[in-house]
Amino acid sequence: MVGRALTADAQVRYAHVDAIDAARVRIVVVPWLQPGIAAMTLGRFVLVRGGNEQRVGLIAHELVHVEQWRELGIVKFLMRYVRDYLHGRRAGLDHWAAYRAISLEAEARLRSGS
Ligand SMILES: [Zn+2]
Repeated sequence: MVGRALTADAQVRYAHVDAIDAARVRIVVVPWLQPGIAAMTLGRFVLVRGGNEQRVGLIAHELVHVEQWRELGIVKFLMRYVRDYLHGRRAGLDHWAAYRAISLEAEARLRSGS
């Protein structure tokens, strides 16, 4: 997968994550993502639906996920993500409420301010 790195200026702007992650992230603009989703993170790749790539708050949020992927690894990240989502659904939350209740999402919102 190809993608562009953040400029040096942009990397400085995203001081809420480890500098390693601001340096290693790659932004990949894609024409389509699941409805309601403007971006998603896979490892160090942030897939952004075209037209959203300049949204600083969105990139800031996804950068927290880049850091989480690096620290947890793919298996722990995905297990925690799915476990939290299913926990929310079993508790009676609808899809979006369960999504928002995922601990990794809550951390990303808190740290990115978005
Ligand atoms: Zn998120």
